[in-house]
Parts: sequence; C-alpha cells; structure tokens
Amino acid sequence: MKKYALVTGGSRGIGRAASVKLAAMGYCVIINYKSNEEEAQKTLELIAGNGGEAQLMRFDIGDVNEVTAVLDEWMDKNKDACIEVLVNNAGIRKDNLLFWMSDNEWHNVINTNLNGTFYITRALVKYMLNRKYGRIINIVSVSGITGMAGQTNYSAAKAGIIGLTKALALESAKKKVTVNAIAPGFIDTDMTKDLDQEELKRRIPAGRFGKAEEVAELIGFLASGKASYITGQVIGIGGGL
Ligand code: NAP
Repeated sequence: MKKYALVTGGSRGIGRAASVKLAAMGYCVIINYKSNEEEAQKTLELIAGNGGEAQLMRFDIGDVNEVTAVLDEWMDKNKDACIEVLVNNAGIRKDNLLFWMSDNEWHNVINTNLNGTFYITRALVKYMLNRKYGRIINIVSVSGITGMAGQTNYSAAKAGIIGLTKALALESAKKKVTVNAIAPGFIDTDMTKDLDQEELKRRIPAGRFGKAEEVAELIGFLASGKASYITGQVIGIGGGL
C-alpha cells in the first residue's frame, strides 16, 4: 500500500521544506496550496528531481466545503491509499493592534489557521484511527505560547491549535496516532519578509533567523517511527527565543 503524507501549505516556506523532507523519507507527498500554482509546481519539481514522488492538491483550508469535496474525491479515486502523516502547516498572519483590528483581520486569521486545522484534521483522523497508526503535526508559533503584540488574532489562533493538539492527543494515543505541535520562532520565509530582521536578530539568543529546513528536520523526526512515544507536546524551535 502506497503511503502518503499531506502537507497543507506545502508549496512554499516551511511547508516546502517539510514536503522535501517527507519525500526523502519515502512518502508520496500531497502538496496542498491555495493559489500560487507556480511555487507549488517548483516544489513538485524539486521532489521529482531528488527522485521522490509528489502530487499537487489545491484547496483553501479555511473553506470546509472545498476541503471536504477535494478530499472525498481523492479518497474515492485512491481507495487503497493511506495518508499516514498530516502536517497542518498552512497559515497566514494579518497583524494589527487589537483596538484597530477589523472583523475581517480577526476572522480570516482565525479561520485559516484554527478552523482550517480542524477541517482537515477531522477529515483525515478517522482513517488514521481505523488503521491504528498516524502522525499529526501542527505548526503553531512562539506567538501562541507567549503572545505577541500586534498579533492577538494570530496568537489566539495558534494557542487554539495548541489546545486542539493536546485534546486530540488524548483521544488518539491508544490507537497509535500521535498529535504534536511545533512552535517556530522567526524563520526565514515569505511570511517574515516584511519584518525588520536586523532589529529582531538582536532579540534572538542564537542571533539569527531559523531556516525552513531546520524546522523540516523536526517535522521529519515527529513523523517517523522513532517518535512513537511523543504525543500531545509543543516543541519549540526558535534559537532560544
Ligand atoms: P509562507 O512562506 O507564507 O507560506 C504559506 C503557505 O501556506 C503557502 O504554501 C500558501 O499557499 C499556504 N496557504 C496560505 N493560506 C492557505 C489556505 N487558506 N489554504 C491552503 N494553503 C494556504 O509561510 P511559512 O513562513 O512557511 O509558515 C508556515 C507555517 O509556519 C504557518 O502556519 C506559520 O504561521 C507558521 N510559522 C511561521 C513562522 C515564520 O517565522 N516563518 C514562525 C512561526 C510559525 P499559497 O502560496 O498558494 O497561498
């Protein structure tokens, strides 16, 4: 039976590095993205160039109808397939001080990050529980642990995913489905391009931003059989932040 790993937002940044890592571990990787097909295609080619296997799957994780329709169709066409690993990585930020924050800024960030994680996890966890094996890895943020000024929407969404991680881990542990969260600090991707890196580096004990590939190594470990006794945890990767 062919084993698949689905990475939401697998087309760019941390998701791309995770897709490359999981393909190198032998998974056929399903690269989800929302709209930037060109970058998704680049990730696909990168994996193929390394001798790995992958396919693209476009849907907006925040749209429950799209998530359900696309996954149902895929499951129908791939009856023997087994999605063993789910990396809930897709995310957005829309920073503003709370007293200026619009309803849209609040709802979009909560919907994509938190509701999106719920929709896709609900769709896949039942198969993992039935098969008595699975790995769910949720990418959260230091912002969801300590809070970050200007990010009440994002901090709330990421803290919500941490709660989901811990509760689902309790529901799933007996069936050998592990559920963990990774909380990156500042990682060099498109998401952090607009930040003042020089100023922020002074606040990071390691004195630099992290690389997407460094996060992908941790994703790879949590996705592996070696991490079978780790569940319900939030693991930081932030250069000491
Ligand atoms: P990024 O470079 O901005 O990439 C975001 C990815 O998510 C893209 O593949 C994008 O696809 C996809 N995406 C966005 N909205 C989506 C939606 N509604 N449905 C499906 N896919 C969607 O982000 P990143 O820096 O790699 O961040 C990845 C994760 O790590 C996020 O959850 C982020 O919150 C978290 N994180 C990042 C940092 C950091 O410093 N970079 C720190 C802490 C946590 P399209 O290109 O098609 O839109």
